Amino acid sequence: MVDPVVQQKRLISAKAESFTESVIREMTRQALLYGAINLAQGFPDFPAPEEVKRAAAAAIAADINQYAITWGAKSLREAIARQMARWQGLSVNPETEITVCCGSTEAMISALLAVTNPGDEIVIFEPFYENYGPDAILSGARPRFVKLHPPATPESDWIFDEKELRAAFNPRTKAVILNTPNNPTGKVFTRQELKFIRDLCVEFNALAITDEIYEHIIYDGTRHLSIATLDGMRDRTVTINGMSKTYSVTGWRVGWAVAAPHLTGAIRKVHDFLTVGAPAPLQEAGAVALSLPESYYQKLAADYRARRDLLLAALQEAGFRAFVPRGAYYIMTGISAFGFPDEAAFTKYLVKEIGVAPVPGSSFYSDPRDGAQQVRFAFCKQLHTLDEAAGRLARLRKTR
Ligand code: GLN
Repeated sequence: MVDPVVQQKRLISAKAESFTESVIREMTRQALLYGAINLAQGFPDFPAPEEVKRAAAAAIAADINQYAITWGAKSLREAIARQMARWQGLSVNPETEITVCCGSTEAMISALLAVTNPGDEIVIFEPFYENYGPDAILSGARPRFVKLHPPATPESDWIFDEKELRAAFNPRTKAVILNTPNNPTGKVFTRQELKFIRDLCVEFNALAITDEIYEHIIYDGTRHLSIATLDGMRDRTVTINGMSKTYSVTGWRVGWAVAAPHLTGAIRKVHDFLTVGAPAPLQEAGAVALSLPESYYQKLAADYRARRDLLLAALQEAGFRAFVPRGAYYIMTGISAFGFPDEAAFTKYLVKEIGVAPVPGSSFYSDPRDGAQQVRFAFCKQLHTLDEAAGRLARLRKTR
């Protein structure tokens, strides 16, 4: 008799078998189950801007309820082009160089499916946002992980070793995935680092696929720089961004990929057959959001700074080794002070007994052991939510 498990397995693709469900999303379910404060999945618990919500409601009332142009509503693409000129001095053609997708998540997988062949390699810095692993598998590319080494002191930065990065590049390298400001480390790549990456991309005829969704969430005078602005990168970069983080609308699923016309042509085809298009009325609201005044972005960053400072102090006080983020809205921490065998046991304890949900560090590494003494906290929450979390974290007991 054929084993029923074997029979069932035959019906599942090897690709789907080779990765697990998202741990970040699972932690949200765990937080709900145990009534823990969700500092796991990175979504705000505060309202989106009034004018952006009104624009979405108005678009629905005005019957913008059918498909937008598959690669994005003209008004939104034009607003994206204006923003790229304003923030990075990049001139892009909204007719030929922008693809609006269902979130930056779809932009990333569409870009990878558009550019990779089986056997191609993708360089990924780790710790990495967990989607990039399955993204590589789904697109048939082989990931080559390069470590971001933790800061030597809490105030210094995560850095890559230039020799290690160079060793990861070879003639099979199709692209390097960048994420700056970075999830989960909070690192913001410097001009010097980006130039080193640029030189490798040019030498090996590889692309940079850069996820810049946290562009406007930066601290302490840090400047965000798009690698596409560096000499030689304009036409070998796919720049990914979206509405989710900047306008606190993670559930809207509106993101985009910006790339030279030959790349955009391929990305648009993949995107069209994956999803046809992003929600039409929300794209119209996107055009309004991307026209908000400068003061909106200043307040966004200042508010995030207050949230970061609150959670950072609470984590340090509770005994975590907290790495200070320069951008994005996560704090990566070391948990060795608490004497747990690994981050899975610690996470379970934190969710069930302390009432705060983090993301276990292992979900950001190719080898889970590398994250065995780390967890990530998100601080895209109201100050009173973070205060409540701080009170709960204060109940943790250090063993060392
Ligand atoms: N980027 C967010 C995080 O890292 C949320 C990701 C998601 O669930 N789509 O938590």
